[in-house]
Amino acid sequence: MARYILALDQGTTSSRAMLFNEWGNIVSLAQEEFPQHFPQPGWVEHDAMDIWDAQLRVARNALEQVAAKATEIAAIGITNQRETTLIWERASGRPIHRAIVWQDRRTASLCDALRAEGFDRRIAERTGLVTDPYFSATKVAWLLENVVGARQKAERGELAFGTMDAWLVWQLTAGASHITDISNASRTMLFDIHSGSWCTEILERLNIPPSLLPTVVPSSAVVGETVAACFGAAIPIAGMAGDQQAATFGQVCTEAGMAKNTYGTGCFLLMQTGRRPVPSAHQLLTTIAWQIGEAEAQYALEGSVFVAGAAVQWLRDELAFVETSAASEAIATSVSDSGGVYLVPAFTGLGAPYWDAYARGAIVGLSRGSGRAEIVRAALESIAYQSRDVVEVMRKDADLSLHTLRVDGGVTQNDFVMQFQADILGVPVERPVITETTALGAAYLAGLAVGFWPSMGALKEQWRLDRVFEPQISAAEREERYAGWLQAVARVCSDVA
Ligand code: ADP
Repeated sequence: MARYILALDQGTTSSRAMLFNEWGNIVSLAQEEFPQHFPQPGWVEHDAMDIWDAQLRVARNALEQVAAKATEIAAIGITNQRETTLIWERASGRPIHRAIVWQDRRTASLCDALRAEGFDRRIAERTGLVTDPYFSATKVAWLLENVVGARQKAERGELAFGTMDAWLVWQLTAGASHITDISNASRTMLFDIHSGSWCTEILERLNIPPSLLPTVVPSSAVVGETVAACFGAAIPIAGMAGDQQAATFGQVCTEAGMAKNTYGTGCFLLMQTGRRPVPSAHQLLTTIAWQIGEAEAQYALEGSVFVAGAAVQWLRDELAFVETSAASEAIATSVSDSGGVYLVPAFTGLGAPYWDAYARGAIVGLSRGSGRAEIVRAALESIAYQSRDVVEVMRKDADLSLHTLRVDGGVTQNDFVMQFQADILGVPVERPVITETTALGAAYLAGLAVGFWPSMGALKEQWRLDRVFEPQISAAEREERYAGWLQAVARVCSDVA
């Protein structure tokens, strides 16, 4: 009897595995960190064998914790750090180089060159993405240019490219399947999100042979099965999605206009836009959310905030204003407002909608009475203001009104931030009971494909609210506070300084 879904969550710093039961509850969890390699400033690499070894160990561990047998696992769902790029030899399965991680900036000059010739406009039209080293395309090009013998082997069809989903499936099937799901494909900057196929024009411009590419499959469908050597018996592989898309699915944001925000080190805000890929006039990313079986793909708009929880860490580690991240809440609420103080945590520049790489942080509006509590409160408020900045441009781009915002991530434990977010957006903020939404989303995608859950309706019913934060301030107050934020941001932008 199948009792569980196994979710593999292959993240940037660790590999995790979780078993979910039919009620969507976590019954076991195992996690292992793996080494990060920084061969030069701005370069970040992972050893793909470390990732696979850790992933297999945690998956086995998750089964062992509850003495589950492979035959009790209805399906496996995979979610992963997106964009991280690997090339391996088809015959031996050996990587030709370490994986180049999404954070790696080594291909910045190639991206500059693409922009200089105006090719970034074609890239945006076809892939929905901003031309940036973040995505896989230029990393593939770099590997082919810089690894000895790689180009010749690629031209002979001897190499395979994949993001971490493809790599894990290759390993789980002992090389039988070279596939990637459509949401991961849409982050490579090589995929035409309108036609749903690899983009020949970009491949040619970057001199990437099509023989490298995996077959693109739906996010929810039985696409293969594990070899018995992994878990003692074959298990269907039935769900795959990039981490932010999986989190959006785990939050059951399945209708156009529904959005989720993940508040971790930074924030990732995704709004589902249904069957419509919405181009952005504000450099948000247009991306594929998921595809369920043979149904049409669903799209999303994505915007990120660079510094969210990291601002709280800064209060703790640099200013010693709080002992722990959690302690920020009591300090912030010890005063009734920030007394006109705004903190703009532009430590690494500003993202959407400002896109100012040269902006730097500032605390503005200080008066003689401003103290630690006001500054801590202003730092927490900045997380909500920055999220509103992204929501504002999403609303304009998508011409969709946001009804509610579903939230997850470490910062959501802070009730003050969540209440302030509802106040400053003017929409309810919903925090679910299960905040492991990334793994849950992968489990849902897999479980739907094998009938472990009968329908999307069943998933909607499973999503359980922990707490809803309703807006409590007047529209006039909301806009006045937000106007103060916009003024503070204007002061840190590089063209004003
Ligand atoms: P990531 O996946 O990016 O590592 P997490 O979702 O684990 O992030 O969240 C960690 C972040 O949340 C840290 O930046 C931490 O400062 C912040 N954080 C955790 N708890 C709280 C809290 N109660 N109040 C404010 N920030 C918090």
